[in-house]
Amino acid sequence: MAAKSKRLPNHHRGIFARKNIRSGDTVCVMGGRVVHIHEHNAIGSFGEEYGIDISEDFSFCPANERELELMPQCLINHSCAPNLGFVDTVRLVAIRDIAAGEELTYDYAFILYRHPENDFEFRMDCRCGAPEGICRKRITVDDWKRPELHERYGEWFQPFLKRRFAALKRQN
Ligand SMILES: [Zn+2]
Repeated sequence: MAAKSKRLPNHHRGIFARKNIRSGDTVCVMGGRVVHIHEHNAIGSFGEEYGIDISEDFSFCPANERELELMPQCLINHSCAPNLGFVDTVRLVAIRDIAAGEELTYDYAFILYRHPENDFEFRMDCRCGAPEGICRKRITVDDWKRPELHERYGEWFQPFLKRRFAALKRQN
């Protein structure tokens, strides 16, 4: 990964570009523990906090700090004006040129899905610094349904969410 993890002044961790990255470059191929929705209880809230949904039923889901270190993709923070997106289930690419030192981000709408059997309720107040009208201020697990995000970033969502959004549009 052309990136490193460091602590932000507010003690949140993030992943930062070590060098300039060109639009289209692969930044990360995700790996690590893949967990089925029925196993979530065994992993607990740690995994839910850091998990990345890669299908309706499966997530990348570190069980503890040690596993999290091996799954840096789970430390990438949200931005409403992200610089990374998914070209497939496991590959994250730069969606614009990124300068050395910039924080790497994707939009959590690309990866969050509410499974009907899971009562996990993700809500986060957003202070990503994106301009007025772009920052959603509040991020939820249902943001993948927002048409304006598909207009802006449609190609960068996890493939299963792209399929779900297309089905949603056909229904309406
Ligand atoms: Zn925001």
